[in-house]
This record gives sequence, C-alpha cells and structure tokens, in this order.
Amino acid sequence: MTNLAGNKTYSVFNSLAEELTQFQAAGLYRKPRSFTGPSSRVVAKEGRELVCLASNNYLGLSTHPSVIDAAMAAARSFGTGSGASRLVSSGTLELHVRLEATIARFKETEDAVLFSSGYMANVGTISALVGPGDMVFTDKLNHASVIDGCRLSGARMRVYHHADAIDLQQLLQSSSSSRRLIVTDGVFSMDGDLAPLPEILELAKLFDAWILVDDAHATGVLGHYGRGTLEYYNLRHPRLIQLGTLSKAVGVEGGFVAGPRILIEYLRNKARTFIYSTAPAPPVTAAAIKSLEILQNEPKWREQLRNNSVKLREGLRALGYTFLNGPTPIIPVMIGDPAQVVTLSRALETHGVLVPAIRPPTVPKGTSRLRATVMATHTPGDLEQVLAAFEVVRGLAG
Ligand SMILES: *Cc1c(COP(=O)(O)O)cnc(C)c1O
Repeated sequence: MTNLAGNKTYSVFNSLAEELTQFQAAGLYRKPRSFTGPSSRVVAKEGRELVCLASNNYLGLSTHPSVIDAAMAAARSFGTGSGASRLVSSGTLELHVRLEATIARFKETEDAVLFSSGYMANVGTISALVGPGDMVFTDKLNHASVIDGCRLSGARMRVYHHADAIDLQQLLQSSSSSRRLIVTDGVFSMDGDLAPLPEILELAKLFDAWILVDDAHATGVLGHYGRGTLEYYNLRHPRLIQLGTLSKAVGVEGGFVAGPRILIEYLRNKARTFIYSTAPAPPVTAAAIKSLEILQNEPKWREQLRNNSVKLREGLRALGYTFLNGPTPIIPVMIGDPAQVVTLSRALETHGVLVPAIRPPTVPKGTSRLRATVMATHTPGDLEQVLAAFEVVRGLAG
C-alpha cells in the first residue's frame, strides 16, 4: 500500500488530508466511537459501564420488551426489508398505513405521512412546499436538516434571530411572495429551549403563512400525552404543520409529517424523499406503532423523565454550572472554548459519565458546550454518580 497523502496521483486526497489536519489543530476533529450495548441509561465501553447522558432515547423505549417483540414478530411475518418505494408496486405494507394512522391520531391531525428519517422529512417537505419565488423564514438555531431543506427548495431564505418573534415580524413585513413558510424547531436540539409558537402562530395568521414545527425533541416528551410542543402550549391550527422523528423518544427510526389531509396528500405526491426512497423496514414500522401506543398509555415515563430532569438541573446549578432553564431533558452546560469542552468531557468519562462535547459546526463559534440529556430510566444512583463526577471536574471548567 502506498501512502495516499504522499502520492501525486492522489493529490485530491492531499487537500482532504490538509483540511482534516486543520480540523485537528482547531480541536474540531471528530470520529465516531463504538459501544458494545444499547444506547440506554448506561452504555458499555471497553468492559466499563458509563452513565449515559448522551442519548435522545429519552423514555428508554428502544429497549422496551414489547417494542422489541413487535419488531421481531414483524421481521418473521414481513421480512427485514420493504423491497420497494411506497408508490411503486409492493412497497406499501398494511403496517405503513397503520403507522401513519397511529401518528395522525397521536398528533390529533387528519393524516400523516411517513419518511425514512426526520432528516428526509425536513428536506422533502420544505422543498415540496416552497420553491423559487417563495419565501422561507427560519430560526437561526434550526436543525441542519431544516437548513438543508430550505437551501434545496430554492426559495428565498430569511433567517430570524433565535426564538425572536419581533425579528420574524419585521422580516415578514418586508416580504412579498406568493407562499410564505415559517420553519422552527419546537424544542431546539442543542439548547433545549422552546420556540415561541403562540406568537409565531399569530404572525402566521396575520401574514398568511404556514408554520412547519420540527418537533423531533418534543415528540413523546412534552405534554401529558407526549404529543409535543403544540400540546404543551395547547395550540391547534391548520396552519401548523407538525414534523417529527421516530428515532428519539419513540426509540425506533423514521420521520413523519402530520397535518390536514390535503397537505399530506400533496406531500405523498410531491416530496421527493418520500417518493424515491424505499419504504421503512417492517420491524422498524411495527416497533414504532407499539412504541407510540406505550408512550400514550403510560404517562409515568414522562413524569419520571421530568423528575429526573429537574433533579439534574437543580444539582448542576448548585455546583455552579450555567445553562438555560427549560422544561426539556436537554441540558446545555455552557463552556465556550472547544478544547476545554473536550477536556471536560474526557474527565467526566474517567469518572464514569458519558456527556458529549458539542462544538462548531454543530453550534455557533464560542458556544461549545456539554450537552447532557437525561432519561426516564436513570436511577437515583445514576444521577448521584453524575453529580459527583461534575463536582470533581468543576475546576476544569475555567
Ligand atoms: C434529530 C433531529 C432531526 C433528524 O431526525 P432523524 O430521524 O435523526 O433523521 C431533525 N430535526 C431535529 C430538530 C432533530 O433534532
């Protein structure tokens, strides 16, 4: 084997290697780590158990025995793959129809459409709803898949200050286009705060716009039944289009959009990430149906999640750590410097706690942070261990 970086034939790789070296120098180089067990309250790494504050499996449903049984039964009855896309030949199974109906009931909408991931739901939906000549208004801290959907759509993009309805109003006032779409995360993935949806809905009515709410982190988490940000605010309106993922609190995989029947029908005919991708696999689809059932019928998991979240927030604050307050299980412990946040994350790990260091480009420069996510299944002992570790490493936090 020749050294790629030293081979002239591969000069294209040299430029890649250079860029990677720059990432390393800036403390921004990343590499996936592998674990030997489920993404659960504790994770296994090289024979050690670490308390996991690094999973979006908020309710622990990915390892719920009934959800696992549903996946296994579906694999036996329908196989491991769907074999075709939804609109072509045999791609749509009765399971997909049932899951879409289950999501619509859960979100209290007329209909819902399933995608293979939340990422694909955003990219497909935004680019289906708006195009050149239209305008899309997007919160500064929206998820990357929202931004990619906006870019792909070709619509003119206006970025408003984070969660700032007044800034949004000014942008809407100075806009002229046939279709206006406002897009916002319901719960912001790296900050754990909420979009001011009641204010945004008033603006949408005033300026005849749609709102697409990306409820990836609120689905299963917020509201008594876990329906998400709309249930939390007690809001309901045909202008509000709800998007979500089945990969976080639902504990499985896939994305969806829920809303008025005409809109969902339109997306089934127009969203390219729905049309040109193979239908979600049967085990995944059946597991999601079961998980959504449990999630609505057993609110105790959400109570437990809220209790754990309050406990961890109170404990961290008592230790002098700073973060935004909020009703979500996402606790962004602000550090600032990317190298320092990595040092802290490593130190916490030596004390048996896994908390990811979040750095640019995932978050804006100067706002590197530890993103701690709590789960319903964490035990009081887990939380004690977490707080003890945060206490020991406190001195490294500048
Ligand atoms: C995770 C996430 C997505 C992507 O969902 P996947 O199902 O993981 O592709 C989209 N939007 C937000 C806000 C997210 O946090």
